[in-house]
Amino acid sequence: MTVTVDSASCIGCSMCAYAAPGIFHMEGRVSTVLPQPDETQFERAAGAANRCPVNAIKISKET
Ligand code: SF4
Repeated sequence: MTVTVDSASCIGCSMCAYAAPGIFHMEGRVSTVLPQPDETQFERAAGAANRCPVNAIKISKET
């Protein structure tokens, strides 16, 4: 699983970092994903992705 944030789309609302701390971290006004979460974190990552107002979070099954 690979989780990415499109930094060009991210508006820095912090919703993902609030919804899934430990996966998403705010660096200035952009969310980052470090380190990549393992498969057990999929539901939390997906929940945060669903909350993103600009759909900037993408989750791929591939690593
Ligand atoms: S929820 Fe979306 S727009 Fe908001 S900080 Fe996270 S990635 Fe950026």
